[in-house]
Amino acid sequence: MRKFALEEHFTRPDLSAYAHGPLSSMDRETFGRFEKRLLEFDGMRLEAMDKAGIELAVLSVTTPGVQGEPNTRTAIKQAREANDFLAHEIQKHPTRYAGFAHLPLQDAKAAGDELARCVEELGFKGEMINGHTNGHYLDEEMYHPFWECVQEINVPVYLHACDPYDMPHNYQGHPELLGATGSWTVETATHALRMVFGGTFDRFPKVTLIFGHMGETLPYLLWRLDSRSRIRSKLGQDRDRLPSEVIKKNIVVTTTGVCSHPALLCAVSALGENSVMFSVDYPYEDCGVAAEFIETAPISEAARVKICHRNAERLLRI
Ligand code: ZN
Repeated sequence: MRKFALEEHFTRPDLSAYAHGPLSSMDRETFGRFEKRLLEFDGMRLEAMDKAGIELAVLSVTTPGVQGEPNTRTAIKQAREANDFLAHEIQKHPTRYAGFAHLPLQDAKAAGDELARCVEELGFKGEMINGHTNGHYLDEEMYHPFWECVQEINVPVYLHACDPYDMPHNYQGHPELLGATGSWTVETATHALRMVFGGTFDRFPKVTLIFGHMGETLPYLLWRLDSRSRIRSKLGQDRDRLPSEVIKKNIVVTTTGVCSHPALLCAVSALGENSVMFSVDYPYEDCGVAAEFIETAPISEAARVKICHRNAERLLRI
């Protein structure tokens, strides 16, 4: 089964240092192994894709990239360089790689301009946003010009997991809960819910958000979100649409980093088979494990075709 994968990462030597914080829970050897693969495009990465039957990988800068940069001018410059670098690598393997733009979200206008350049001049398919930017979330008013630009260009936005801006007290003494094990999921689901409840998708209804890790628990929570939001309505915090309606219309998910059939069935059942797309999370996850997971999933062949490549072809206009 041919497969497209959408959450596949790379870095450049000048961006690598930003990843040391978020990935600090890993031991040196593990981080070194990942870093080697993040920096590489012509050998190990393609071999892993070939073995797993992954025809096309959409590449993006690993978290947080320039979103972790405190200086806005530096972030704008580095984002541009990262995108030009990626475009150059894609040119070497144009049938195997595509790109998501890396954006300096310290400045909403600059981010929108860079997105336009990446889509119109470099042929990128959308953008990968690595969570909050120095504590700013995408529902904030400062991002309205950015969302206007996204709607105009009409490409999807992939929202990736990251560390919380302030580490909550409840993680103290439990470093094993940080990162992909726990804190990233809570942080990223909360980011998306800020947008759902904050009205981002009501104000910008044409935006499609791609959400990794089988939807960061949201497919599992739809009923409860609706139920508790009805209680809020009684408090005068009324909304036109239920949270589940917004999520089903504006959010699609990838299987990245969750090779679990029960979780896949939940996502397909909650959101529909048109809203789930295969991905791996290379190099942090194994392409072969992800491929076997989707090829043996207890779903119809028609659904498997959609999840493996057809939904991505439609959404990314490949
Ligand atoms: Zn990832």
